[in-house]
Amino acid sequence: MKIIKLLILVILISGTLNPGILTIPEKSDFKRTSLHNEVLNFLHILKKQSGKIKLTTLCSSTEGKEVPLVIVSNEGISSPRQMRALNRSAILFVANIHAGEIEGKEASLMVLRDIAEGKREDLLKNQVLLFVPIFNADGNDKLGKNRRDNGPELAGVRYNGQHLDLNRDYIKLESPEVNALIKLFKEWDPVLFVDLHTTNGSYHREPVTYTTLSNPNSHQELIDFMWKKLFPEVRETMKVKYKTDAIPYGNFVDRADPEKGWRNHAYEARFGTNYAGLRNRLTILDENYSHADYKTRVISAYYFIRSIAEFTSKNIKLMDALVKRADLETMKNYSSGDHVLTYTAEKLLEFTIKSFEFEKEKIKPEDRDKYPPWIKDFIIKKTDRLKDYKVTYFAKAKPDSSVEVPNGYFILPHHNKVIENLKKHGIIIEKIREDFSGEFENFIINKIEYGKSLYQGHILLTIKGKYKKVKRELPKGSFYITMKQPLARLISEILEPESKDSLLKWGFFNREIVMQWTGRPGKYPVFRYNGKKERFLSVRE
Ligand SMILES: [Zn+2]
Repeated sequence: MKIIKLLILVILISGTLNPGILTIPEKSDFKRTSLHNEVLNFLHILKKQSGKIKLTTLCSSTEGKEVPLVIVSNEGISSPRQMRALNRSAILFVANIHAGEIEGKEASLMVLRDIAEGKREDLLKNQVLLFVPIFNADGNDKLGKNRRDNGPELAGVRYNGQHLDLNRDYIKLESPEVNALIKLFKEWDPVLFVDLHTTNGSYHREPVTYTTLSNPNSHQELIDFMWKKLFPEVRETMKVKYKTDAIPYGNFVDRADPEKGWRNHAYEARFGTNYAGLRNRLTILDENYSHADYKTRVISAYYFIRSIAEFTSKNIKLMDALVKRADLETMKNYSSGDHVLTYTAEKLLEFTIKSFEFEKEKIKPEDRDKYPPWIKDFIIKKTDRLKDYKVTYFAKAKPDSSVEVPNGYFILPHHNKVIENLKKHGIIIEKIREDFSGEFENFIINKIEYGKSLYQGHILLTIKGKYKKVKRELPKGSFYITMKQPLARLISEILEPESKDSLLKWGFFNREIVMQWTGRPGKYPVFRYNGKKERFLSVRE
């Protein structure tokens, strides 16, 4: 009898004390971040615990590590087909693209645990949640002294197994990880893509910062939805329900004078959240504030993911309708407008940032070597005196120059690398079945400037020149890319020679654009076309 009583007591105590499975930061009192195998083990336990959680593989990393994809739904959905049959849409969270930036990974696991334990049924009401909690698996376990964040002591590295920054790979597509993510974009078509990072920029006190699709060629209604509807509501949830501050992502324009404003400078399509924006999908760049302590960062990221998912579960139908409308409008109208090539940042909104007073300090001659040359004679030091600044947020790209969008682009045959890249993005390509004589616009290259240093293993090119009308025959087997398709914004970004992320710039046409013996500029083998499509015969590639 005594033994039974004792057993009941043990069961009762263990029941009340069992807080469920703990993440590595929780277990280590926020001293460590989880390793790749620890993330996988955690996910396998959650999968066993709940039928709502399906676990599959996004891809294998360069070094052969499994990059997991977690599919979460009330119905136990495991494929895009099942999702569509049930009339659901997906929201995607990607963490750890820069593997030193770890709190998105840990926070994702905590949200998944809540769902596995049946605590957050509301988050799955109308949607499927996709999580890639450890996108850069190769970088994650290369532990070293944490770069600059306020804990933990050891963290992984920014680059993947190929020494590539995955958040610069969205146009050129050289990594298995980003290629697999684009495949996911095509198959699951998430309405919203959330990319979780950590920033160590200007000093302020809010632990979470955010921004969204910013490329000037994005659909304006999508940008407006983010700044006028989603962010204000999510920020309010963060503040009222989770007692956590969140502000737009950026840095002071001038750290010596914070009142000059706050700015986001990343508008290029090579960044994931801008890239997905050019695909007419909604995006969030989350940058957790690296000077906050590790625990605060993880908990704040956890609240941010929850707040976003709470918003989307209520608004997913509206968001889905919005992005589908953006697709239709792009298909119908983009070819009659302009594609922006260069731009400057102008005011998007105003807000108050909780920060500090700063002091200018002259660099001592003996310390000069510690700082890069662009720092000049003074450094700006944060004091402990709190100060709030009302700032203008410069985060809207105002067009400076643009080019008219054609009806379509022709590419001469044998440019297989280019065609392969376009196909990976999901761009519709046709091949012409007979030689075609017509009038085209061809970009005449006057000057090629070479980047001064290697960037992601490339010498980036800056091309100068202008379009010229040409009459010529394009041989059978040439490729045609119509702009009457949902990805038209992306196509111009990739094929316009002067755009900031053109394949020409990334070196995909290097063999053609410099003449072998003279070294003079050669020919750009892409032809803009404004005539009728009925004039040539083509088949879908
Ligand atoms: Zn990052």
